Amino acid sequence: MSNAKSLEELEQKQDFIRRHIGPSPAQVSDMLSALEVSSVQELIDQTVPASIRLEQPLTVGESRTEVETLSYLKSVASKNKVFKSYIGQGYHPTNVPHVILRNVLENPGWYTAYTPYQPEIAQGRLESLLNFQTMTLDLTGLDLASASLLDESTAAAEAMGLAKRVSKAKKANAFFIADDVHTQTIDVVTTRAEQFGFEIIVGKAEDAVNHDIFGALFQYPTTSGEVVDITDLIAGVQSKKAIACVAADIMSLLLLKAPGKLGADVVLGSAQRFGVPMGYGGPHAAFFATRDAYKRSLPGRIIGVSKDRLGNDALRMAMQTREQHIRRDKANSNICTAQVLLANMAAFYAVYHGPQGLKTIAQRIHRFADILASGLKAKGIALKHSTWFDTLTVVSDNKNDVTARAIAKGVNFATNHEGEYSISVSETTTRADITELFDIILGEGHGLSVDAIAADVEANGSESIPASLVRDDEVLTHPNFNSYHSETDMLRYIKRLESKDLSLNHSMISLGSCTMKLNATAEMIPITWPEFANLHPFCPLDQAEGYQIMIGELHDWLVNITGYDAVSLQPNSGAQGEYAGLIAIRKYHESRGDAHRNVCLIPSSAHGTNPASAQMASMKIVVVNCDKNGNVDMADLKAKAEEVSENLSCIMITYPSTHGVYEETIREICDIIHEHGGQVYMDGANMNAQVGVTSPGFIGSDVSHLNLHKTFCIPHGGGGPGVGPIGVKSHLAPFMPNHSVINVPGTNIGNGAVSAAPYGSAAILPISWAYITMMGSEGLKQATEMAIVNANYLTHELSKHFPILYRGRNNRVAHECIVDLRPLKELSGITEMDVAKRLQDYGFHSPTMSFPVAGTLMIEPTESESKGEIDRFIEAMVSIKGEIEKVISGEWSIENNPLVFAPHTQGDVLGNEWDRAYDRFYAAFPVPAVAKNKFWPTVTRIDDVYGDRNLVCSCPAVETYRD
Ligand SMILES: *Cc1c(COP(=O)(O)O)cnc(C)c1O
Repeated sequence: MSNAKSLEELEQKQDFIRRHIGPSPAQVSDMLSALEVSSVQELIDQTVPASIRLEQPLTVGESRTEVETLSYLKSVASKNKVFKSYIGQGYHPTNVPHVILRNVLENPGWYTAYTPYQPEIAQGRLESLLNFQTMTLDLTGLDLASASLLDESTAAAEAMGLAKRVSKAKKANAFFIADDVHTQTIDVVTTRAEQFGFEIIVGKAEDAVNHDIFGALFQYPTTSGEVVDITDLIAGVQSKKAIACVAADIMSLLLLKAPGKLGADVVLGSAQRFGVPMGYGGPHAAFFATRDAYKRSLPGRIIGVSKDRLGNDALRMAMQTREQHIRRDKANSNICTAQVLLANMAAFYAVYHGPQGLKTIAQRIHRFADILASGLKAKGIALKHSTWFDTLTVVSDNKNDVTARAIAKGVNFATNHEGEYSISVSETTTRADITELFDIILGEGHGLSVDAIAADVEANGSESIPASLVRDDEVLTHPNFNSYHSETDMLRYIKRLESKDLSLNHSMISLGSCTMKLNATAEMIPITWPEFANLHPFCPLDQAEGYQIMIGELHDWLVNITGYDAVSLQPNSGAQGEYAGLIAIRKYHESRGDAHRNVCLIPSSAHGTNPASAQMASMKIVVVNCDKNGNVDMADLKAKAEEVSENLSCIMITYPSTHGVYEETIREICDIIHEHGGQVYMDGANMNAQVGVTSPGFIGSDVSHLNLHKTFCIPHGGGGPGVGPIGVKSHLAPFMPNHSVINVPGTNIGNGAVSAAPYGSAAILPISWAYITMMGSEGLKQATEMAIVNANYLTHELSKHFPILYRGRNNRVAHECIVDLRPLKELSGITEMDVAKRLQDYGFHSPTMSFPVAGTLMIEPTESESKGEIDRFIEAMVSIKGEIEKVISGEWSIENNPLVFAPHTQGDVLGNEWDRAYDRFYAAFPVPAVAKNKFWPTVTRIDDVYGDRNLVCSCPAVETYRD
């Protein structure tokens, strides 16, 4: 084969790159002339300091076409062996209702939305999340629920943190974990406890009461399947003024008494088996509920009911000021991006099946467990427990024979406990499967008839759930769970909610620091392939060869792109990556006898997750000032580094800075920190301005997290999922997270886990893998360059009308810019909030508001937006400026203008009364472009104060629908 490529081949190779990048070549040259440069290269030269420019191109390969990429990935995926999983331990096969699969998981209307910070254009997913909370409350029997955490194990770690804060056992420093809690949860909670300096005691559940503890965690049913009445255990813990936490299986709660009713203070668990594929470990949403009294301590977001300006019910995120990353160094957890898309899927699963349907599914699962148990017992097989919901543990002296027979038939059992194996049946189990299980365990020719045993179980009932634990209350009585059981109704419900939300399939979402770029369809296709979707995270490694290849390639590419030596893919959000990175730094210092190094320097401009993560790693935070240009104040940095030198652990710094410029002194900053024996943590959320042009490793930092859900095209999901891998230099590599069930190669054996699954949210890694494959080294660099071109063009045009807060060398910005609205606010009284809401009338999501500077908008267009779309956004901003000027000139009063009444709903504009100083048509169609693609917010401006004063976090009672 000759090396020379045909013209057709070259054309095809470039195909994906030009589709990912928004502006056409003609638009690029228009933008370049507006910027008065002759080439992209000239702009990059003006923008990126020469000292940090990569000398070598990336080596991730050449761009490949969509077709080539998917066909290769399919061949890789097919190396995964999709066995029937009876492993359980927190992960179960599930039937994803197809109406949800296609219309939620595979639908950009749902997966490309942002976290609902602009509630007027997010009522759909807010309603769905309220369903999630209502479902959580009903099933757990508690008063207050949050709208999803990262996974069951981190939720348990959050429960421990909450217990410490609210327990009246103030002197106690130990947290008890029953030894029959899932292994990975013990692992993740222990990692967290180590950081906080808490002692962990693992022992028999009954033993909890004999220790001096501030809290305890039980599993319900236990990891080996026993259904234990924990009422007395809970009371025992509470008699010591400690907090009783229960990790519960969501499906079992349809049949078992709610842990809240047994007295638990906190109930948490995974919502995975409510219609979310196992995906080799994630992503899935965790649920979390507690008592009303602990509402200020509740981790994660809470969706609440409030009123809009016209007095209609409207949803929003409640008590946002207690959102952890907003509390910075006062945070008691570091959750930002969570698992909204998956929480929505689980909530829709409950809506689709309704209480009766869910109960039928749970009963069927339980009946299969009964049938299996009955047959095994009839053949003299010893079961470890006499109670169960879905999991049987067999005490066995021929475990190896049985598991070998299972493997030969393409079946996995849980085998990680000495001398026993466990079988968890699931929604997908059939009678034929039970026969197969008998064949495996008993050998063929056992003579058992599943139908006969089933009839027997049916006739005689079963005592495998203790009478005291049989659930007798109604759940999910709200109309939302009782109205949409035909596919037609369900489809329309999903569509109705989707239509209320503004996503990337409507218009650009120019949120600075969030990098809302294209999530290409081809990248999304593989995640629902059964070969990726249906693997259990603890299946034998030789069944996950396809995953290992894909993860291995992604790992190597990320190493190349970041300039580091090793990458861990375990953290399932940016903030979790920060946490994992800080743990690595801490362990590194400890390994050198420098355990006392615990001070973390953080510039005042940092994202709130930075101090929150430092807090989670029990570091002492020292804030470094920024100068008037928004750069780190070098004199202050030097002074503070000097002052804490002995105890300096690290600095956390974002690059390019949160002010959207390439700080010239970044190498010097790294040197100063290193001279004082510290490590440099570079927050990689802004990697979209680095890929292929520079890299954190090249610049001189030691560790970074990447947000694969920003730079590497995993969609934001309406607030998650995310993946926050960390890259490290070789000296930190041994200290990256490991896992107690599945060993992660390359890290120290003793290292704890930060996520429930060894590779975190493995199922969405194909998205980033496909992005890198289709872009190739050249395309990735072009993407960065075009992000810079777009940002500079937008800055240039907007600067004719608004002051731009910070600029770097040659008056250029990096990939985002900050528009300063404070001078206009001073003159007019119109706030940044008014501008953000008015943008909704123009069909746009607001840019990032008041971060990192209050009274400003931070705008990041990304490379994926065309000049046409950017021009429409500019037109909207300029038109809004004109509106503000009318307020300044007195043509409109500050009380009566389209800004303070924004956003306008159809009901508002078409209502019978109209006493505004502007006309109705102008309210809704302020510029002609809007009419072509009008987006109607469904509620008017929402009253946050009302909602926080009257906190309601479950679906409002039916009566409120009637008024
Ligand atoms: C988004 C972001 C984070 C946090 O990432 P999550 O995935 O939301 O936890 C951290 N730092 C910066 C600068 C960010 O923009």
